[in-house]
Amino acid sequence: MRALAVLLLALCVACGRGDDRPDVLVIVADSLAASHVSSHGHARPTTPCFDTFAARHVRLAEASAAAAWTLPSVASLFTSQLQEVHGARDDELRLRDDLPTLAERFRDAGWSTHAIVQTPVLGSRTGVDRGFATYEVLDFSLASFERALALARQALDAPQAPHLVYLHVAPPHMPYQAPPPFRGRFSADSQALAHVDGSIASARAVHRARLAPDHPAVARLAALYDEHIAFVDARLGELVDALQARATPRPLVVVWTSDHGEAFMEHGEQGHNSSVYEEMLHVPLAVAAPGLGARVESTPVSLLDLAPTLLELCDLPALPQAAGRSLVPLLRNEPFDANRALLASSRHYETKPERWQVAVRSGRFKLHAWPALGRSELRDLELDPGERDDCGSAHPDMRARLEREVEHLQRELATTLDRGELSESDRRTLRELGYADDER
Ligand SMILES: [Zn+2]
Repeated sequence: MRALAVLLLALCVACGRGDDRPDVLVIVADSLAASHVSSHGHARPTTPCFDTFAARHVRLAEASAAAAWTLPSVASLFTSQLQEVHGARDDELRLRDDLPTLAERFRDAGWSTHAIVQTPVLGSRTGVDRGFATYEVLDFSLASFERALALARQALDAPQAPHLVYLHVAPPHMPYQAPPPFRGRFSADSQALAHVDGSIASARAVHRARLAPDHPAVARLAALYDEHIAFVDARLGELVDALQARATPRPLVVVWTSDHGEAFMEHGEQGHNSSVYEEMLHVPLAVAAPGLGARVESTPVSLLDLAPTLLELCDLPALPQAAGRSLVPLLRNEPFDANRALLASSRHYETKPERWQVAVRSGRFKLHAWPALGRSELRDLELDPGERDDCGSAHPDMRARLEREVEHLQRELATTLDRGELSESDRRTLRELGYADDER
């Protein structure tokens, strides 16, 4: 396959067409909830750079992650499969080896493929590195964040083009501790709340205390999170501006998104992982590619759609039996099914199946199901954006249709899973990040 791609490229160059294959940059800012993004209506100016970028290109205003935490969400992005199928749904589980990935498709077609992931959650043990020629795993430090940006720039500027670069940065993931001049921008000094300092310990304390969303401690934590967003937004904006201003004639495709959202006690939780309410699934998403123009699109889409989209944009073969579909018609403002069922799920606790939650979105409706408990609620996101009321009795056909999607997913649930090797130091790091904490 690879040899064929190289041969085709050589023929293409020989016949004078040249190599106009684009560089592709996929940016994931970890834990960036759409509801905290200014262009999604957030009151604070958290994301001027994302908003400017999105206004120049296509912003998909109703994008959902396929899972509520990093590993399964990113594995879904690269395989266009739900975590119930791709298998990477626990720290000690890895991506199924028989599923082709986006990075493999690009590599096989002659792209140089590089990943820079600033989180140990995506270590090579997970199998997410498959298809990448280089795969840098960095820690959560500020120095590593700056290094991740520099490595991404370096990879895209290297002469062996074209490039696929996956840049996954830790901010605004907790700890919410932005450096100056962002620190203090939205959070006023407060003696009484000095203990809410954005550290993981302070976030856990808010979660455990089951505080109301409007409690001053929750509000302060959210302000610190917003500062962290403003910090990462500014630095990513500089990177994207510099890349888009490059002198190279090579086209550039940029995707700017997040792997999941972040909750601030809207439904009794702080952080992510544990449920499928909008605050944990709704993410910003904007796509820049030659010829797309600028617009805001409100048709619901999933990060499962990204791999099919990027493959079509670059004329590469689709992934077989993908759960998502290419958004290229939608990006070009052509007809697209706005009511297809989009699935997403919470963290799987292998020992606590009753906590597994599944969301099925179709248009304005969303089913929230607890499959192990045989329970579900239908919500109308237009009339009830806070997801409080079960409107299933008013829409029995929609409820039945979306429940059938959950039943189908239960039948697909992979039970024979590949285990990754989680070292003691990995385990300790994940615990420090709150990932091995059963409460989250
Ligand atoms: Zn994440």
